[in-house]
Amino acid sequence: MMNFTYNSLPSRVIFGAGSREQLAGEIERLGCSRALILSTSGHESLATKLARQIGKLAVAVFPGAVMHTPVPVSEQAAEVARSVNADCTVALGGGSTIGLGKAIALRTDLAQFAIPTTYSGSEMTPILGETEGRKKTTKRTPKVLPEVVLYDPELTLSLPVHLSVTSGINALAHAVEASYAKDRNPIISLMAEESIRAFARSLPAIVINAENESARSDALYGAWLAGSCLGAVGMSLHHKLCHVLGGTFNLPHAETHTVILPHAIAYNSTAEPGVMNTIAKAISADDASIGLYDFTGRLGAKRSLRQLGMPEDGIEKVALLAMQNPYWNPRKFELHAIHELIRRAWAGEPPKA
Ligand code: NAD
Repeated sequence: MMNFTYNSLPSRVIFGAGSREQLAGEIERLGCSRALILSTSGHESLATKLARQIGKLAVAVFPGAVMHTPVPVSEQAAEVARSVNADCTVALGGGSTIGLGKAIALRTDLAQFAIPTTYSGSEMTPILGETEGRKKTTKRTPKVLPEVVLYDPELTLSLPVHLSVTSGINALAHAVEASYAKDRNPIISLMAEESIRAFARSLPAIVINAENESARSDALYGAWLAGSCLGAVGMSLHHKLCHVLGGTFNLPHAETHTVILPHAIAYNSTAEPGVMNTIAKAISADDASIGLYDFTGRLGAKRSLRQLGMPEDGIEKVALLAMQNPYWNPRKFELHAIHELIRRAWAGEPPKA
């Protein structure tokens, strides 16, 4: 017997090599005609090229997106949007640029187009994390969900292998935690399993050849599914730990997810044996947590928090902070066990249930 609630989120997804060429038609389809193009400074030339491609539909480029969506940058960008009388934004980039588009939408209600170039999945969620000073706050509101997402695998060919791996594992973490979410439902569980399979297939192929177009397409497909999972159900211990680690030590987002995920899976393994079996099968391993630890090792990812720059005396602090306002988790948050989890992750030891 099943009981569940399923909410589908209203967004239009266009997937395929070269799909960025459809941007002008999509802007007109929504009745918009004045797009502000957003990017990081590193992607300014790509953003300018996109602006040229859509001609008079682009009114300006704002290449100021940065990591962690700082409020002053969002306010400046919203002001630019008002000053050029924009009626929509186009975020071309990873989670940082898409976050800026969301922050502008929160302030102005402008329509959003997202063209993701990493696997972060932010484009499929009604979630916005913003930082003010050193404080990060997260909101969930339909106002920030992009209306149209164009997934063009060609734009991910340039994503360096190490970023592709960690960005892929960051996405995989959304799918893993969706699999045991309190509010899971059959559709999201299917999407999560398919996402894990897509990354298990595609990431090793990308490590061998970063320009393998079919592997790039497969990974972006996995990212779409994982982002949809993140947008639909609640996250647990893994996301809580990464949030605390990122906020406390300013550790890099996707790399932190990559180190923690095998350990979070191990922590939850006895509480959700059926889900762990499904994950293990999806990555062709006997055990989900050890299998994932081996997988990230084979992909050449860093597997310790020490390598990411976290000090050893931070272990206790992280464990204590994680115990404050804990997220729902299949296994209760236990201080001693979480301390041991962080210690193992810090040292780069294999995960232990
Ligand atoms: P990012 O957007 O900061 O990109 C990482 C780096 O990769 C940047 O230097 C960027 O210029 C570069 N880059 C991006 N695409 C590239 C490409 N195709 N080729 C070459 N270089 C490329 O990082 P990210 O991991 O995508 O996103 C992380 C941010 O997204 C964090 O702030 C995180 O909190 C947020 N996020 C939010 C959600 C949500 O639902 N709100 C979900 C996931 C992540």
